[in-house]
Amino acid sequence: MEIPAVYYDGQTARRYPISLVIEQGVVSLYGPDFERHERVIDIEVPEHFGAGARVLRFADGAYCEVADHAALNTALAASGYRAGALERWQRSGSIAIAALVGVVVISVLAYYVGLPAAADVVARKVPMPFVASLSRGALAALDGSSLNASTLDAERRAALVRGYSALKLGDNQAVPRIEFRSSPALGANAFALPDGTVVLLDELVAIAGSDDEIYAVLAHEQGHVHYRHSLRRLLQGSVVATAMTAWLGDVSSMLVLLPTVLLETRYSRRFETEADDYAAGQLRARGLSPGLLADALEHLTAQRHGGPDIPDYLSSHPATAERIKNLRAAAE
Ligand SMILES: [Zn+2]
Repeated sequence: MEIPAVYYDGQTARRYPISLVIEQGVVSLYGPDFERHERVIDIEVPEHFGAGARVLRFADGAYCEVADHAALNTALAASGYRAGALERWQRSGSIAIAALVGVVVISVLAYYVGLPAAADVVARKVPMPFVASLSRGALAALDGSSLNASTLDAERRAALVRGYSALKLGDNQAVPRIEFRSSPALGANAFALPDGTVVLLDELVAIAGSDDEIYAVLAHEQGHVHYRHSLRRLLQGSVVATAMTAWLGDVSSMLVLLPTVLLETRYSRRFETEADDYAAGQLRARGLSPGLLADALEHLTAQRHGGPDIPDYLSSHPATAERIKNLRAAAE
């Protein structure tokens, strides 16, 4: 997405009309005879609630005015800007309250305006501390029902955590966490909580051909986190309840719904494709082949045909053959 903006070099009064693009945590400015790229974390992005242009400041004194707040916020939210935002939420109670009220207003509007599109917008505005407490609560609820303790030994778990952490998969590096569990009922499965924590089941570890295959599956799950798929489904399912919950600051009613959403992750084909594409990009950027995810899917298919008829990773992931084909093509 290109956002129109005006750039000033900080030395002269010259005005450069430019296009601003934020991708993978990098802000790029493009003018007719000008180009500049900086990491988002190296730029000062002030909070802004008024109507005036928002000013992004560079370390060397240059700055950039952006009038389209909505587009800028969307682009920032999709980049690595969240960690910084989290710190501010925690510091400022009033900002958090304003955000929660905003969620209520937006949620109510969404109810009337068209759910899937609105849920997408709202999901990006749910404050991170709320997402985090929702995630913790959902895991606790699942621990009391579908999930058992992992039987992997400590050394094996530590090795998987080391390998996974080293790859830095996903957006939110503040939580590169794996929760190890087992579940005969769920079978070979992994899923991500909305805060980026991944729940990895022993059954999936057992059938994966290599640790890299496991990481490829976790990269796919991080794709669902990146696009906030579970939050979007949750919001679509309960816009009003969600708004009230956010407003009252009580996560209990959403907690009833989230475990269901996580377990019967019948995501749409579009969501799966988005998560696969995200995983392929992440794997390639780390020198791994997107084919690893195809390998994992094939191992899951083989296990499914030979094993008992239990709900597994694949039953929740439609059109597997087509996904394998696309991932193999991406690996070439
Ligand atoms: Zn998926």
